[in-house]
Amino acid sequence: MKVGVLSVQGAFAEMEAYWRSQGANVFEIRQRSDLERGLDLLALPGGESTVQGKLLKDLGLFASLKERIDGGLPVFAVCAGLILLAEKIEDDPTVWFGSLPVAVRRNAYGRQLGSFRTVGDFDGTPGVPMTFIRAPAITAVSPEAKVLSVFNGQPTAVRWRNVTAFTWHPELNAGGLRPI
Ligand code: GLN
Repeated sequence: MKVGVLSVQGAFAEMEAYWRSQGANVFEIRQRSDLERGLDLLALPGGESTVQGKLLKDLGLFASLKERIDGGLPVFAVCAGLILLAEKIEDDPTVWFGSLPVAVRRNAYGRQLGSFRTVGDFDGTPGVPMTFIRAPAITAVSPEAKVLSVFNGQPTAVRWRNVTAFTWHPELNAGGLRPI
């Protein structure tokens, strides 16, 4: 499987390491020509969603990626990646891809001290370690989406059509977990 990891900013190295550990053929997406390599899955890493979104536009990657996402390319999105996909960002008129029917609140657990670990159920598997890093919260989710994990009563991972998206970082504690 060929996995393209968006590598313009943020925790793309961790995302690459995760997919390599899953046996994928991993390459970095930094410019438009990288998309010509063909990909079976797009991985959107954590980082700073505002910076990533702006770079996607400046680098001319945004429209091509949106077309692929909306066209059914499997997407694995973490944290900032989820924010880029969300249809709505609370208290913010910005919408990036707008491809995932969820609303999110950025930095929902506090800005600096908002990073923590917990353990929970993921898609029916108990005891999955979950690392939150300045994570967003999912404040609303379409009934058509499947909620895969919950923390404090709010969804923390969802699957909808071709997209699986997390507010936490599965790539950091993956172990034997195969999220998709
Ligand atoms: N706080 C970041 C944002 O709002 C997301 C943090 C992360 O990706 N770990 O974009």
